[in-house]
Amino acid sequence: MVTIENNGGKNRIPFSQRLFWSIFFMFLGIVFCFLLFQYQREKEFAQEKLSTLLDNYNYLLYKKCQKETDLPSTVRGFIEDIPQRDLRVTIIAPNGEVLFDNAETEGLSNHNDRSEVQKARLNGKGFAIRTSQTTGIRYFYSATNIDSYIYRSALRFDPYVRSSLSINKDFIYFFLLMSLLFFFVLSKFTYSIGQTIAKLRDFANNVKNGHIPLIDYVFPNDELGDISQNIVKLYHLQQKAKNEVAMERDKIVKHFQYSKEGFAMFSLEGKEILSNTLFIQYINVISDSHVNQADEAIYIEELNPIHQFLNDNIRNLKRDRKVLRKSVTIDKGGKIFLVECILFVDNSYELSINDISRQEEESRLKRQLTQNISHELKTPVSSIQGYLETILSNPEIAPDKQRFFLERCYSQSTRLTLLLRDISVLNRLEEASNMFDLTEVNLNQLISGILAECSREIEEKKAKTEVKLPAKTVMEGNQSLLYSIFRNLLDNALAYAGENIKITINCYKEDSKYYYFSFSDNGVGIPAEHINRIFERFYRVDKGRSRKIGGTGLGLSIVKNSVNFHKGQISAKSSPGKGVTFFFTLKKKL
Ligand code: ADP
Repeated sequence: MVTIENNGGKNRIPFSQRLFWSIFFMFLGIVFCFLLFQYQREKEFAQEKLSTLLDNYNYLLYKKCQKETDLPSTVRGFIEDIPQRDLRVTIIAPNGEVLFDNAETEGLSNHNDRSEVQKARLNGKGFAIRTSQTTGIRYFYSATNIDSYIYRSALRFDPYVRSSLSINKDFIYFFLLMSLLFFFVLSKFTYSIGQTIAKLRDFANNVKNGHIPLIDYVFPNDELGDISQNIVKLYHLQQKAKNEVAMERDKIVKHFQYSKEGFAMFSLEGKEILSNTLFIQYINVISDSHVNQADEAIYIEELNPIHQFLNDNIRNLKRDRKVLRKSVTIDKGGKIFLVECILFVDNSYELSINDISRQEEESRLKRQLTQNISHELKTPVSSIQGYLETILSNPEIAPDKQRFFLERCYSQSTRLTLLLRDISVLNRLEEASNMFDLTEVNLNQLISGILAECSREIEEKKAKTEVKLPAKTVMEGNQSLLYSIFRNLLDNALAYAGENIKITINCYKEDSKYYYFSFSDNGVGIPAEHINRIFERFYRVDKGRSRKIGGTGLGLSIVKNSVNFHKGQISAKSSPGKGVTFFFTLKKKL
């Protein structure tokens, strides 16, 4: 699709035609000048030739006149010897007086004013074509100055003389032919340029109007065509690079939209370039006043240190400056935010806001956990140390007392072992859950095995158990973690619920993905203020009782983490005197 005219140039002569006609007219002008020059030269050449012939006659006549005394008969004899019988001969004295003229004898005026005579007097010889003032006839005159006497021959300007003065016109035909050839070559050349330019213009118009031009523009096979082809190629390369940049920008924008941090970028004038929704949300949590625009963020009181940092550094723009950073931690609305500002070398900057409350909470919990663990370990270790010290410092101690202390030592070391085992299980669940291997586990068998293991305790507590499971409750999971879930819940019920209780293990629902369990007892229950914390590590409702019973305070924590490992959720419900019910789900296939 090649359009020659664009909208703005409807009546404009196409460039190729303008180029053609200007070059062609220039060429014609040069040819014309050359023809004129050549014509003139040819004409002068013919005149020179005739003049030289007559000049020779003048010399011959002069020589004859030197030998003869009778001038008229000498001239007559001379004319008879030459082909031009009508030759007019004139001899003029140095003062211009005509000494002899074979055409006219009477009334001859002074001839020094004749142009050919004047030329001869100046240059030795001269010629002229003019009408004779004496005879009124048109002649071709040729005068020769010999010893200040002018010998002049003249021929009537008749058809014979005219034809001998006529020029050879071959060169005119030659140039006409050349012009014709030039016309065709030029038209072909300008047509090709015109094609290229028309395509280039079409390409430029498409680009200007936002249409993506075709890649396969085919230009004529010449230098201009190559240049044009390269322009189109460069355009496409540039478009490709632009698209890639746009795609990357798009990815970055998407990344920021889905990011868990508030983020905004600003130009050096402080105008927003890009921001995500979390940014404005966080800014509003941080600020006491309502902020509508990301641009306003920098002016809120809480970000004064960052505002100050920007003011100080934006003014001090140095060429070798590096990217600068400033961060502030803001504690607001029960949350902790880390606001960071990065100032780039071009004075544009970005602000990021991170909600670090969770991280802070996690590190607080970690600190607390370490304290708890050391506290839990300290108790049995110091008891063991105390008992052993007593035995060592009292060698005479009675054997039954010694045995009593040793038994206490043994029970404390068992407690230590259990504690270390539970801590290790929890650590593995948190840090290396991929180390637990998965197998097919039959929950019917697993639960009946646990009940058999605990039958003595069940009997002691006069407890009744009821298990309601589908005939084949099978799932993929870790055998030992699934064991911990049911074993810990059963141990707790037997340990804390009291006597004559009923323990019910019920798989009350099943769908394609999950088993839904409830584990309940109808014992003493857990007071409402504790129910939400029983899954925390080392949390005990009754600290003294739990320790006495031998609980580590980690049982329910292990249960919760094991349920989570099996992609399930657990919660507990209790009302005092009516027992505790744990509800949890287990995914059939992990
Ligand atoms: P422990 O190792 O001390 O038993 P757990 O994490 O297993 O720790 O239990 C936390 C606390 O929850 C226990 O100290 C106990 O007071 C309470 N608890 C757990 N199960 C029951 C239950 N079935 N009935 C009453 N209280 C319970």
